[in-house]
Amino acid sequence: MPKAQETILEIDLNSLEHNYQYLRSKITPGIKMLGVVKAFAYGSDSVAIAKRLEKIGVDHFAVAYTKEGETIRVGGITKPVLVLHPQTHSFKTLIDHCLTPSLYSLHILKEFIVTAEKLNLEDYAVHININTGLNRLGFDPADIDEVISVFQNTSAIKLVGMYSHLAASEDMALRDFTKSQIVNFIATSEKIIAAFDHKIIRHLCNTSGILNYPEASFDMVRSGIGLYGYGNSTKHDSNLKPVATLKTIISQIHRIKEGESVGYNRGYIAKRDTTTATLPLGHADGISRIYGKEKTSVLINGKEAPIIGNVCMDMLMVDVTDINCKEGDEAIFFGKERSAEKFANKAGTISYELVTAISQRVKRHIIE
Ligand SMILES: *Cc1c(COP(=O)(O)O)cnc(C)c1O
Repeated sequence: MPKAQETILEIDLNSLEHNYQYLRSKITPGIKMLGVVKAFAYGSDSVAIAKRLEKIGVDHFAVAYTKEGETIRVGGITKPVLVLHPQTHSFKTLIDHCLTPSLYSLHILKEFIVTAEKLNLEDYAVHININTGLNRLGFDPADIDEVISVFQNTSAIKLVGMYSHLAASEDMALRDFTKSQIVNFIATSEKIIAAFDHKIIRHLCNTSGILNYPEASFDMVRSGIGLYGYGNSTKHDSNLKPVATLKTIISQIHRIKEGESVGYNRGYIAKRDTTTATLPLGHADGISRIYGKEKTSVLINGKEAPIIGNVCMDMLMVDVTDINCKEGDEAIFFGKERSAEKFANKAGTISYELVTAISQRVKRHIIE
C-alpha cells in the first residue's frame, strides 16, 4: 500500500470478496445471500461495496432508509433492495427507485397500500417484519390474521418475503432465547405461507446467525458486519478480513517535561518527560472522546501509542515516548493490522459503532 498522506479510510474490496465467499461457505448452496449496506455500508462506501457484491453474486441488498436505497440504485445496483425501516413520507421515492419496503406495523402496511393504490400499482413486492422477541420493529404474531386479510384485500401489493431479526445471535449464553425466536418465527411464517398460493421467502439470520445457527438459514440470510470483516467473536474474526482500515499521519511531535499537560482541560499530565505526536483526526471524524484518556491506542511503526488526554474535534494526541517515529509517519487506528473490535472493546463499545461513526470528512480510498 502507498503510505497515507492524510487521514484515509482504505476499503479493500478483495477482503470483502473473501468474507462473502467465507459466509457463503457456511450456508447450504441455493440459499440466497442479502448484503446489508446501510449506514454507508457500515461506514465505508455503499456504492463501491454494493457494486462489488452484486458482481460476485449477492442476490439481494438491504438498507435502513429509503435515501440509502436511492443512493445505491443511482449508483447502478439492479438487484432487489429491501428498505428495512421506511417512513411513510418516503414511499413515493421508494417506489420510484423500485425499492422493496419492509412493512412492520398495521399502520405502515395500510399507509403503503394507500400510496400503491393511488399509483395504480399491481403486485408491488413487499416484505414484512415479524417481531419474535427483539421488540424493536415488526408485527406482533397475534396480529397475523389481520395482516393476512389486509394483503388478501388488495392487488396493489404482493407479499414476497417475511423475516425477523435475532436479538442475541452472537451470545451463546442466550442460546435458549435465540432458539425460542426461531420457533416463533417458524410458527408465524408457516401460518402465513398456508394463507397464500405463491412463494414467500423467509429470512432470519444476521452475520452471527449464519455463523452460530446455520440451520435457521431458511431461504435467505442477511449479512452486514461479517461482510466487513468482523464476526462478533475472536474465533469467527480469525476467518474474516477487515475491509476498512483507518489510518493517518503524524502532523507534529512535541517533547514535554514531566508535569506538563496535553490538550483541552489538561486532560493528560505527563508522568515523565514525554514525547507526544499530534494526529489530524478527531471526534468530528468519528473517533469520539470515549477513546481518549488512554483507553485505547494507535499503531505507529508497529508499536502501541496510547491516545492521551481529551480527543479534540480535529486532532488527538498520542504518547510516542518509547516509539522511534517522526512527523509524516503513519498511524493506524484499526483495520487489517489491528481489529476494530478490539479497539472498540477497550473503550466499552463494539465494532459496529466504531466503523459506522467514521464521518464523511474522512477520504475513502477504494482498493479494487
Ligand atoms: C443491520 C441489520 C442486519 C445486519 O446485521 P449484522 O449483525 O451486521 O450482520 C440484519 N438484519 C437487520 C434487520 C438489520 O437491521
